[in-house]
Amino acid sequence: MLLPLSRAISPSLDWRERCASTNSELVARAELLPDLAVVATADQTAGRGRLGRVWSAPPGSALAVSLLVRHDGAPDPRRLGWLPLMAGVALARTARSLGVEGVGLKWPNDVLVDAAGGPARKLSGILTELATEGVVVGAGLNLSMTADELPVPTATSLALQGVPVDAGLVDRALAAALHELLSVVAQWRAVTDPAELRAVIEPELRTLGRAVRVDRPGLAPLLGTAESLDDDGRLRVRSLAEGEGIVAVAAGDVTHLRYE
Ligand code: ATP
Repeated sequence: MLLPLSRAISPSLDWRERCASTNSELVARAELLPDLAVVATADQTAGRGRLGRVWSAPPGSALAVSLLVRHDGAPDPRRLGWLPLMAGVALARTARSLGVEGVGLKWPNDVLVDAAGGPARKLSGILTELATEGVVVGAGLNLSMTADELPVPTATSLALQGVPVDAGLVDRALAAALHELLSVVAQWRAVTDPAELRAVIEPELRTLGRAVRVDRPGLAPLLGTAESLDDDGRLRVRSLAEGEGIVAVAAGDVTHLRYE
């Protein structure tokens, strides 16, 4: 595929006609690849979500794009928590720039779109993974998927949101995603004050102010109200359990976050 818009943004783009997992490609080859290396495909055959979940899409109907964010030395784990959230902002902006309305983020890693008379639907998912030399930031974005093709009833696609599907859609979507991802990664690298990152993310976040149920492995479900993000990007939940107060939840510790 020629992809002129995308290659103008990321000249070394490694486009695959088919790929098991764009994240796995970058994780496996991180040592050899330069900073901001990109692998992308519209036919990902073994896409992954968090905690071993499956991310699936019929061939050609969705974009998978992964970016290698290299670091020198050990990364500060407190800063790493912000990266998936910033990637979510990038994909929300991508969807908006392609014409989708009613886009927002569900902490920590879902890009949702409002649905009339029902729960919001997932248009894009983010998966960040540690590699030896950095972090791999991956995103799946549903493009031309029809209602019959949705892998789960809670999904949606650009096409189902009224974005015209034509031969240039893959390139337009990939170029927009790369532009937005590179911009948030640059910001994430430059900013040291968590308040500044919070100011970028919170306006996109639907989760704040909501009644939530958080499932964590080996613990009782946490019921409460999502209040804010702490300095590490964790979700601060005011628990309904007596005496528990505020509980800070890290993305890696959550199996499910549900709105009550
Ligand atoms: P959940 O979406 O159930 O709240 P999660 O956000 O932690 O959980 P992820 O690991 O990000 O989930 O993504 C995997 C889940 O996304 C799958 O379990 C499935 O429910 C859903 N899914 C899989 N493929 C797609 C897709 N193409 N579009 C939208 N949702 C998908």
